[in-house]
Amino acid sequence: MGLIVQKYGGTSVADAQRIQAVAHRIAQRYQQGDQLVVVVSAMGNTTDRLIQLAYQVSPEPEARELDLLLSTGEVVSCTLLAMALRAIGVPAVALTGAQAGIGTDARYGRARILRVDPSRILSHLREGKVAVVAGFQGITEEMDITTLGRGGSDTTAVALAAALKAQRCEIYTDVEGIYTADPRVVPEARKLERISYEEMLELASQGARVMHNRAVELGWVYKVPIYVASSFTEAPGTLICLQEGESMEQRNKVVGIAHDTDVGRITIRGVPDRPGIAAAIFTPLAEAGISVDTIVQNASVERLTDLTFTVAKADLRKAVEMVRHVAQEIGAKEVLWDDVMAKVSIVGSGMQSVPGYAATMFRALYQAGINIELITTSEIRITCLIDASRVEEAVRALHRAFQLEEG
Ligand code: ASP
Ligand code: MG
Repeated sequence: MGLIVQKYGGTSVADAQRIQAVAHRIAQRYQQGDQLVVVVSAMGNTTDRLIQLAYQVSPEPEARELDLLLSTGEVVSCTLLAMALRAIGVPAVALTGAQAGIGTDARYGRARILRVDPSRILSHLREGKVAVVAGFQGITEEMDITTLGRGGSDTTAVALAAALKAQRCEIYTDVEGIYTADPRVVPEARKLERISYEEMLELASQGARVMHNRAVELGWVYKVPIYVASSFTEAPGTLICLQEGESMEQRNKVVGIAHDTDVGRITIRGVPDRPGIAAAIFTPLAEAGISVDTIVQNASVERLTDLTFTVAKADLRKAVEMVRHVAQEIGAKEVLWDDVMAKVSIVGSGMQSVPGYAATMFRALYQAGINIELITTSEIRITCLIDASRVEEAVRALHRAFQLEEG
């Protein structure tokens, strides 16, 4: 028994029937005596539909109005879920993000949570009610409604769990947890019982998108255990938590393989090798909100170097345009780009300072006849850029090479 924050994603509340099914799950927990705060996403693809509508009436909807519009999606689902709960005898109250005390800055569309005042939720809990909160939204000091960025309901849930000092935050979604690899690619992939925040962040940043990274980061900072499980089955999920020491003892030091085909590659050839060049190239991209990943600069030959990096495919055209401009200014030779590459990564905090992981990875890819175009590493991750058409094969080969099916 304890205070639990749960979050149900859009597919879990996609229609009236599913909302009722979620209500029954909540009722069971409520009857066990837990105090429950339930955060919901908008029903199904409501948010996408609202965005489309906005663009049908305006070529450039105002950010403030767009956020107010999008916030209605979660208001619909939280009110319906509260009604469904009451209909089966569970006292419940629906709250918007603002009513739940979520204060944000005024960056519409990607607002940051500045403070959470949990007093209203706490008083509802004391009355024995389930608090059902609209995810993905907050309010500024000027009383304007903001949204937290796509997928932001996870962040709402973890922020509330932190502010309420909840026992844990449970994220219910359409997958059963975190796997050693995408089960659609590797049928023998194994569901992990636990994973550390850091490993989860690395897996997610490299393509394993199960929940919002900001939420995992927040959970890490405030030490909120996050449990990811399916809202459609009773199967046990994965706990994202602190795992100091423990993972070093694990026999298998690679916890998972991530892959990502959303990769646009840009290479600038013949870049003059002098101070300030990298800043000149990456500053405008940063200012345009384009996030850059996997940057590799070659050793220079005769004071000229090549620079390669990747961006999301959606940002590729804009990035190429901007880079061409800078390349001309700094006198680089040419700008090349393609979108036929993919990333495959091995992740595990046990890899840290243990030699041999890179060698095993490269050998497995070599034996599968897969060429590595580029390699980057973090302390707990090794990523290779390979031909997108070979990526599933690569994931399977690595899963085998690291014996991840055995656990
Ligand atoms: N409804 C919002 C979205 O689709 C927030 C969320 O689902 O977490 O992005
Ligand atoms: Mg959604």
